[in-house]
Amino acid sequence: MEVLSKIRFELDTPQLMKRAHVVSGSRDAAEFERFVQTACAVARPKAGYREAFIDDKREDTVTIEGITFTSRMLRQNLEPVERVFPYLVTCGRELDEFAPPSGDFLEAFWWDLIKAEVLTAAVKHLVEHLRRRFLLPKTATMNPGSGDADVWPIEQQRELFALLGEVPKQVGVELTESYLMVPNKTISGIRFATERDFRSCQVCQRPVCPNRAAAFDEALWASIQHD
Ligand code: SF4
Repeated sequence: MEVLSKIRFELDTPQLMKRAHVVSGSRDAAEFERFVQTACAVARPKAGYREAFIDDKREDTVTIEGITFTSRMLRQNLEPVERVFPYLVTCGRELDEFAPPSGDFLEAFWWDLIKAEVLTAAVKHLVEHLRRRFLLPKTATMNPGSGDADVWPIEQQRELFALLGEVPKQVGVELTESYLMVPNKTISGIRFATERDFRSCQVCQRPVCPNRAAAFDEALWASIQHD
């Protein structure tokens, strides 16, 4: 297990303000800038991962160090590899401790936007760390609950957390009964070496999504359907 806790990040205030629809020079802008300054001072994003090895692959399942995951897409993605990197990346609990008092929806939205930006920086840090440390030129990830519900069911967060062992505790992330994670700006998943581009969006049929990162791939989606 390895924990990365010294993750440097920068927040682009004008860019964030644009995304939050905050007009430069306004009263809201001054408040928003104060939020960004607070976040920069207190945020401690973290990433933790393990190097793990696959025991067994069946038609719809992959068993990793005794823990079985059921997902035809995961199985297909892991066909060429024997080693994977289960991971957690989080914006860190510190940002929850300094969150604006509940009740103001606009401020809560701003804070969530800032937390998401900190998380994005931490994800980049982990990907770069894995590339350098394990000489992995290209990796992709799958995350329970991403894309169509049955691609990799969110309930398998349980198995993923079991595989992560001490990582959740070390990075301060909790899994709730409904399989959500606290802090909310946290990503869990399995990263793997690959030569092809893979994004869960390719097997997600959601018609409108502001975060779509790749077009729906009809052929790939058909390849994971049961007869
Ligand atoms: S299209 Fe949107 S909902 Fe679907 S996997 Fe991509 S980001 Fe997630």
